[in-house]
Amino acid sequence: MYITNVSQLIGRTPLIDLQVNIPNHSHIFAKLEMFNPGGSIKDRLGQFLIADGIKRQVINQNTTIIEPTAGNTGIGLALAAQQHHLRTILVVPEKFSYEKQQLMQALGATIINTPASEGITGAIEKAKSIAQEIDNSYIPMQFANAANPATYYQSLAPEIIQDLSEQKITAFVAGAGSGGTFAGVAKYLNEQDAGIKNIVVEPEGSILAGGPAHSHRTEGIGVEFIPPFFDTISIDQIMTISDDDAFYQVRQAAKNLGLFIGSSSGAALAASLKLAESLPENSNIVTIFPDSSERYMSDQIYSK
Ligand code: PMP
Repeated sequence: MYITNVSQLIGRTPLIDLQVNIPNHSHIFAKLEMFNPGGSIKDRLGQFLIADGIKRQVINQNTTIIEPTAGNTGIGLALAAQQHHLRTILVVPEKFSYEKQQLMQALGATIINTPASEGITGAIEKAKSIAQEIDNSYIPMQFANAANPATYYQSLAPEIIQDLSEQKITAFVAGAGSGGTFAGVAKYLNEQDAGIKNIVVEPEGSILAGGPAHSHRTEGIGVEFIPPFFDTISIDQIMTISDDDAFYQVRQAAKNLGLFIGSSSGAALAASLKLAESLPENSNIVTIFPDSSERYMSDQIYSK
């Protein structure tokens, strides 16, 4: 078998039973999204947003795509845009990973950096002002576009149900940046089984649990405003995971499981392990590992 285009590699990622030793015999299953061709869960979104824009005729062959992004959505969008020969401008706050910005540029995207202190909100404002200066530009705007949760509702969530056709899922545990992954997957899972508990993971410095916003090292998750997509789902618990705990699990995953995971995956793993202690015997937790540690080497992901 062979493929003819990298976009055929998006989705159908493996789900791994981590086989971690939990005293109550619970299992943690993780969807390995680093196996997408652009290296993250956001390849699914990039492909979906471009296809959606073409379908709705807000994108034509001369459209410039502009998007504020922490990085992975930028890579996913640049990958999809490259397939359609579309110009792409990505607005990225300065603090985000050097490797991700290199990959976006390698795919042909132009990067505009905004000050780290202005966070993602600053990048959103900048993207809007750039769009005003460019005729025939389109901002997919992952933070407000219903196509974002729809991506995960239509692709990732059904894969999980198929992967686990023999098991009953007890809880779904995942981080939120735009909230698209969490909202789309939670909605689909609860339609299959309303008893599945939805647990959202955030780093310290995210506002979901009511704390003040501040910077954190865990990259890709944490919110500065409540995602509008959360209106359509029920959230049973918010777990706040410190950078230290997330990075500890990143190191443990490499050492004990042979898995190179990014810091948002480390946070998801830390939360899943903590949650497992409070669940009944033989529970099944499903979580998501959005990307790999390899794109955070210059942040010294393994040394701190
Ligand atoms: N982890 C990583 C590494 C990410 O890049 C993102 C996207 N910002 C997420 C988790 C969270 O995904 P979502 O935007 O769908 O909430």
